Amino acid sequence: MPLPAVSFEVFPPKTVDAAFRLWDTAQALAPLAPRFFSVTYGAGGTTRDLTHDAAHVLHRTSKLPVSAHLTCVGASVAETMEQAEKFHAAGVTDIVALRGDPQDGTDRFIPHPDGFKNSVELIEALALLDKFTIRVGAYPDCHPDAASQHANIQYLKRKFDAGADEAITQFFFEPESFLRFRDQCAAAGITRPIVPGILPITNWASARKFALCCGTKIPAWMEDAYAKAERDNRTELLSTALCAEMCSTLMDEGVDALHFYTLNRPDLTRNVCRALGVTPQSSLANVA
Ligand code: FAD
Repeated sequence: MPLPAVSFEVFPPKTVDAAFRLWDTAQALAPLAPRFFSVTYGAGGTTRDLTHDAAHVLHRTSKLPVSAHLTCVGASVAETMEQAEKFHAAGVTDIVALRGDPQDGTDRFIPHPDGFKNSVELIEALALLDKFTIRVGAYPDCHPDAASQHANIQYLKRKFDAGADEAITQFFFEPESFLRFRDQCAAAGITRPIVPGILPITNWASARKFALCCGTKIPAWMEDAYAKAERDNRTELLSTALCAEMCSTLMDEGVDALHFYTLNRPDLTRNVCRALGVTPQSSLANVA
């Protein structure tokens, strides 16, 4: 079976310690020759400059394509587009264009008075620039703000119609979630690539909490499996096996690209990649 193309999401560091962790992550994962690294944009638009700097350094040191995330939160249209231009000047060729999550303390997205009202407006504006490959979020287990799965998929279609090139999904715990979603998207006339977002679980409590916030369904068997694994101190083994198995099922079903949420902890992602046959091609040449 052909090897999958891989890509890796990291977040920008806020401390020196975190900066070293990001560097370790890049060093561990760049040799796997990913399609790209993506760098998140803090919830509430809080890491604008850090995202820029991390994307710039990652691109300069790895020579790999870097995708910067950009959200509509907390900024006017002019400020958001200025940020996109800064990304471009820093060598960023790809953007993950998102509505974004609200600032802490609120549970509903409220647009900036002079800002983009939703992700579709942002995607349209970026597409007009004609400078970036545009990726967008997709939600196999349905986004909590969507009225129904039908509305969820129709909205994704609008994002593609607005100029998106590819979608990356929110993480999910069972391959059927993705495969069903892929079929539903195809039936709705979506023809562009939808890449599964894969979360290798380093910490079950936080993965569970995050899943509850973003609408990812938690199968009952996982609760039991992680309770036992934590008791027996073998969480990492369980996560590696489950994640590799899920990726392998997806590949059996024709999935040819996987996007890993690394959380700047490269070991588990690297082990899963190794289990799938994705092994180092080169070493990171330049040090920041
Ligand atoms: P959208 O797809 O625009 O909206 C989500 C759903 O809400 C849609 O499915 C639709 O059904 C409904 N909806 C929204 N607006 C409308 C409307 N006007 N009319 C009708 N229905 C509507 N968050 C960050 O803050 N920073 C990041 O770096 C970040 N990276 C991410 C990367 C990926 C791959 C993914 C999947 C998510 C990421 N997120 C990030 C989280 C994301 O910001 C949240 O999921 C957010 O709630 C939705 O953003 P979106 O652009 O995907 O939403």
